[in-house]
Amino acid sequence: MRLVVVGNGMAGARLVSEVRARSADVRITVYGAEAARPYNRVLLSNVVAGTAGREQVRLVGPRWYAEHDVTARLGVAVTAIDRDARAVVAADGTREPYDVLVLATGSEPVVPPIPGVERASPFRTLDDCDRIREAAATARRAVVIGGGLLGVEAARGLAGLGLPVTLLHFAGHLMERQLDAEAGLVLGETLAALGVATRTGVNATRIVDGRVELSEGGPVEADLVVLACGVRPVVGLARDAGLGVERGVLVDDELRTGDRAVFAIGECAQHAGTVYGLVAPAWEQASVVADIVTGADKEARYRGSRLVTRLKASRVELAAMGETHLTEDEAEIVRFSHRRDGTYRKLVIRDGRLVGAILLGETAAVGTLTQLFDRGAPLPADRAGLLFPGLAGPGADGAAADSPVRMPDSARVCRCNDVTKGRIRACWESGARDVAAVAAATRATTGCGGCRDAVDGIIGWLCEQEGVSV
Ligand SMILES: Cc1cc2nc3c(=O)[nH]c(=O)nc-3n(C[C@H](O)[C@H](O)[C@H](O)COP(=O)(O)OP(=O)(O)OC[C@H]3O[C@@H](n4cnc5c(N)ncnc54)[C@H](O)[C@@H]3O)c2cc1C
Repeated sequence: MRLVVVGNGMAGARLVSEVRARSADVRITVYGAEAARPYNRVLLSNVVAGTAGREQVRLVGPRWYAEHDVTARLGVAVTAIDRDARAVVAADGTREPYDVLVLATGSEPVVPPIPGVERASPFRTLDDCDRIREAAATARRAVVIGGGLLGVEAARGLAGLGLPVTLLHFAGHLMERQLDAEAGLVLGETLAALGVATRTGVNATRIVDGRVELSEGGPVEADLVVLACGVRPVVGLARDAGLGVERGVLVDDELRTGDRAVFAIGECAQHAGTVYGLVAPAWEQASVVADIVTGADKEARYRGSRLVTRLKASRVELAAMGETHLTEDEAEIVRFSHRRDGTYRKLVIRDGRLVGAILLGETAAVGTLTQLFDRGAPLPADRAGLLFPGLAGPGADGAAADSPVRMPDSARVCRCNDVTKGRIRACWESGARDVAAVAAATRATTGCGGCRDAVDGIIGWLCEQEGVSV
C-alpha cells in the first residue's frame, strides 16, 4: 500500500510515525514544504524566549526517516493532486502515486492587508522565530499585533528578552475567544507588570520605519513588529482537486474527505463543523487514520474533542476550557476575582456539570476541573472547594482529584497525547521510574509539556506507595 502524506507538521509527522509503528509494509512518502525536520510548533514561544533551541523542539532525529524506511521530501511542496490518476504533483515536477493520500497542510498566518506589513514577521515557523530573535537582538521596542493566545505568548517571550513590548488587539479584551472581559483585564494587568503594555479596541493601520500607526490614538514606536492575527487553514490543494471545502477540508468520522482514498487531519480539516487549532485533536486524528489505513482498527472513529487552552508564558498562569462566556441567565456561575493579586477564577455550570472554566494567576485546580469537564461528571455541592482545592471539605467528591491518590485511573493526565493515569500506572508497573521513561513509553509530556508535574507526581506517589526508592 502506498501512502502519501502532504504536510510534515505536527499532524503529518505524527501520522507517519503512527503508521510505521503499526505496519512495516506500508510504503510511506511524506512531503514537507518546510525544509526543516518536523518540530513541536507548540513550543515555539520558548524558542522566541530563548528557553529552547531549534534542536530541542524537533520531533524526530536526523536519521529517523532512513531508520524507519520513510521517504521524506523535505523542502518540497505538493502543488496538485491528480485524483483520477491517484498521484500528487510536487513543486520539483515529480509525481508520486498513492493508494491513500492524507492531507495535513495545517494553517497559514493571517497577514492583515495594511501598508508596510512586509516589515512585520509572522509567528508560525522555526524560521519565523529565527527572524524575530535576530531582530530582537538590536531592537529597542517591540509591538505584537494580535492579543490571542499566540500574541500573548509572543509578547511575553519578547518582554522576557528585556524589550518593552506593546500588545495591540482589535477586540475589547485579550484572548476574547477563551476569556470573559474581567479575565482579559486581569491578564492585561499581569502582563503590564512583566513589561507588556496592552492596547485593546485598536487596529494597526500602517507600519512605517520605527512605528505602528493605529485606528485610535497616537502611533506606537517599534523597531520589531510581530504578527499574531490568527490563522487560516491551508485548503488550496483540496479545493483545486474538487474536494469539499468550507473553512477547512470537510471530513467524516473516519477523517475521509468525499474521496475515500483521501483523508485530511489537523488544522486543515473540518470535522462536524469545527476546525481545531490545537495539537491534541490533530494527534488524535492521526491515530485514528493510522488505525484505519493499516487495518489495525478499521472501526476507529474520531468523534470530536473538548478543548482546554493553557498559556505557556513564564509567570503567567492561565488555563481556560469550554463555554466561558455564558451569563448568569444561561448557567450557574461561580466566580472569584482578586485583581490586585492577578487572580481570577470562574466556573460555568449547567445542569450540575462543569461546561466551562477559567483559572488565571493560579492553576492548581486545573487537573481536577479538566477531569470534571472531560467526564461531564456531576459536581460536588461544595463549589468553592473546586476553586480552592485546599479548602475542599470532606465529601467534596471531585475536589482534590489533582492529588494522584484520588485521581481515577481513567483521568486524562496528558491531553495532547491522550494518556490516562491508568496508562502511567501500567508503565510504572513495567519498570518506568521517571518522567523520561514514561514519556518514552506513552509520549505523555511531549506536547505542550503542561502535564510534566502531574506525571512526576504520579510516579512519586506510586514509588512511595510501593516503597520503591528512585
Ligand atoms: C506559537 C504557537 C503556539 C502554539 N501553542 C499551542 C498550545 O499551547 N497548545 C496547542 O494545542 N496548540 C498550540 N499551537 C497550535 C499547534 O501548533 C497546531 O494546532 C498544530 O501545529 C497543527 O498541526 P498541523 O500539522 O495541522 O499543522 P502544522 O503544524 O502547521 O503543519 C502543517 C505543515 O504542512 C506544510 N504544508 C502546507 N502545505 C503544503 C504542501 N502543499 N506541500 C507540502 N507541505 C505543505 C506546512 O509547511 C507545515 O509545515 C500553537 C501554534 C503556534 C504557532
